[in-house]
Amino acid sequence: MPGLLDAKTALILGVANRWSLAYAIAQAFRREGARLVLTYQGERQRSTVEELGAELGAELVLGCDVTQESELERLGAALGESLPGLDCVVHSIAFATREDLSRPFVETSRSGYLLAQEVSSYSLVAVARTVAPLMRQGGSIVTLTYLGASRVVPNYNVMGVAKAALEAAVRYLASDLGPSNIRVNAISAGPVKTASARGVKDFIKVLDTVAERAPLRRNTDPAEVADTAVFLASDLGRGVTGNIIFVDAGFQVMGL
Ligand code: NAD
Repeated sequence: MPGLLDAKTALILGVANRWSLAYAIAQAFRREGARLVLTYQGERQRSTVEELGAELGAELVLGCDVTQESELERLGAALGESLPGLDCVVHSIAFATREDLSRPFVETSRSGYLLAQEVSSYSLVAVARTVAPLMRQGGSIVTLTYLGASRVVPNYNVMGVAKAALEAAVRYLASDLGPSNIRVNAISAGPVKTASARGVKDFIKVLDTVAERAPLRRNTDPAEVADTAVFLASDLGRGVTGNIIFVDAGFQVMGL
């Protein structure tokens, strides 16, 4: 059976380990026939991501810390040299300090606020600027967001504000890049136990609440997020841009 992403080349940023949402997305993209390029954040992650990349048959595994303009430039140059072009990009990156995900939001430091914005929101703009010239036939950029962007979720704090900026960036980028047939969307995933999520104080309580109250009465499976990313990256999603799609067992529709 032909794959939904046959003949497409996908860059996936944000695989740290097997629990990463980006890893589930890479598996689904591979299943659907995409050629894969993965990135890792720094030397500490390199061997793990290289191993995962080998398992997935990734063509390239490259380093890229999105806070470093020079690393983004190097990534763009390496992709330009090695690939005929790029069709899909997944941005699955966020960071805030543990302190800022546990104390009252009002106590967020200036440096913690700026760090969360830089890594979790501005990086989408920087990545889009790097990859757009390589997406010569148009394409799809997908990022990951969370309900904390628009509702107060205990301890999500500074990350909620960064996700609000990220979602606004999705709309502005969709408008800028639409004439080049590059679509930009976000998936708002329900909570999933990953390394990043564990940084949020009392995260387990969030999982329990969702399982109890979501219309589907369960938590989100990373594979569900990944299949929605496949839809957005494939030609099936060709009319969708500037959107936030919830993959959260329906939790966001509930008032109480
Ligand atoms: P994860 O910890 O597996 O992934 C986060 C990734 O961000 C890691 O690969 C990390 O290396 C990368 N990263 C952080 N700083 C970076 C930098 N300076 N340069 C390059 N990469 C950097 O956790 P995850 O839950 O899979 O997170 C992926 C995305 O999904 C994030 O945007 C997160 O906010 C979002 N999300 C997660 C959940 C959840 O409950 N897990 C829910 C909704 C949205």
